Amino acid sequence: MRKKIVAGNWKMNNNKSETIDFIQSLKKLTLSSRVRVIIAPAFTHLAQAEEMTRESPLEVVAQNMNAEKSGAFTGEISATMLQSIGIKSVILGHSERRAYYNESDLALKDKVAAALNNDMEIIFCFGEKLSDRKRDNHFDVVKSQLTSALFGLNAHSWSNLILAYEPVWAIGTGETATPEQAQEMHAYIRSIIAEKYDQSLANVVPILYGGSVKPNNAPAIFSQPDVDGGLIGGAALKVDDFYAIVQSA
Ligand code: PEP
Repeated sequence: MRKKIVAGNWKMNNNKSETIDFIQSLKKLTLSSRVRVIIAPAFTHLAQAEEMTRESPLEVVAQNMNAEKSGAFTGEISATMLQSIGIKSVILGHSERRAYYNESDLALKDKVAAALNNDMEIIFCFGEKLSDRKRDNHFDVVKSQLTSALFGLNAHSWSNLILAYEPVWAIGTGETATPEQAQEMHAYIRSIIAEKYDQSLANVVPILYGGSVKPNNAPAIFSQPDVDGGLIGGAALKVDDFYAIVQSA
């Protein structure tokens, strides 16, 4: 049985004191062991967040990393740097990184390899644009994103992967995929994993939905059989909203 996961991607939000306040407030609430609860603060607060959550079920992940080990890459952070402060998971391929920082499928393939070589877990984001969906091309786009970045991996590596299907048209827009649209795509993703690898692997890969998930729509989305929880942006910035979403997983 797949465990539910709710991950909050804070993006470039929450300064140091806001990060501390959020974690202190969330730690006071009861977190069920049924759900993995994850937050992704900014790089500058990762060490502090990791220290604050060490004795709690709350997990802290990074929002990005560079594929290189070290060197002349001004402003970048490597997997070993994250590991050195106790961070064991990273979000890769978020649509904002793809759109604003030109992260291509090829570049993501290298980041995935670097994270896996460093024993890191990956929350891998992908999803079609509105124009793809309007052209009825969304399944092909998703297949191509997964094929380029992940389908070269051996089956063993998949135990460190969490997929996050995030249709770009639903991120930060207030527009949400219907539960049926999310289910349809998640089932399709499992079918292409089964085709490339096998059904038993397809059955265990966690697949999150992301795109304007809020406390009011989370229960219907999370109740779909192939949806294992969510990657949450805007609603992950308020403890009450985030907790309500966690509770509905
Ligand atoms: C995201 O950034 O991954 C996301 C899903 O954002 P939002 O929930 O705000 O749409």
